[in-house]
Amino acid sequence: MERTLNTEHWTLDTENIMAHLPTEFCKQVAAARRAQGITQSALAKSAGCKQSAVSMFESGHPEKLSMEAVEKIAKILNIPLEAQKHKELPAASCSKKGYCPNSACLSNIPYIINCDLFIWPKLIGLTDELKYCSICGEVLERSCPQCGGQVTEGACCGICGHPRVMTALPPGTDPTEWVTERRNEIQQWRRLTDK
Ligand SMILES: [Zn+2]
Ligand SMILES: [Zn+2]
Repeated sequence: MERTLNTEHWTLDTENIMAHLPTEFCKQVAAARRAQGITQSALAKSAGCKQSAVSMFESGHPEKLSMEAVEKIAKILNIPLEAQKHKELPAASCSKKGYCPNSACLSNIPYIINCDLFIWPKLIGLTDELKYCSICGEVLERSCPQCGGQVTEGACCGICGHPRVMTALPPGTDPTEWVTERRNEIQQWRRLTDK
């Protein structure tokens, strides 16, 4: 009796997660994969699925992958899948990391997926003393401005999908050109600051 109940719960839970994986999560996977220099086919091989399924998943079809494959992918790319499952956050792990919410800050890396502009913020370990961005001086964001959730790796909040860094490009700006320019600036800045 109990066993049956457990299985049912597990099944329901899994279906629930798959149905509610936000498109942002798919985009996060794509971004993380590229950032780590992993090809779709290499990722598919490690996760035990087809490259075409990974491709579909990344373009916003979470149902193309099994929960097992998604879990493996999240693990390989180090994306917290737990945040997708639970609305409630473990209190102990809150507010340990922050990011600079300034879209013009060089710590924030812009990229484009399917014509959408995203900004991947650099996570900064927080102490009580460090509250300002060491690059631009902006006050660091300690939680999601939308849902108050914990700050995790990724361009969007893992809980509500809200973009971490808001951008508004001037009208008429080509996002691709803007991203290329920004990335060049970031590269130059890194060359100057790297020892
Ligand atoms: Zn900054
Ligand atoms: Zn949020």
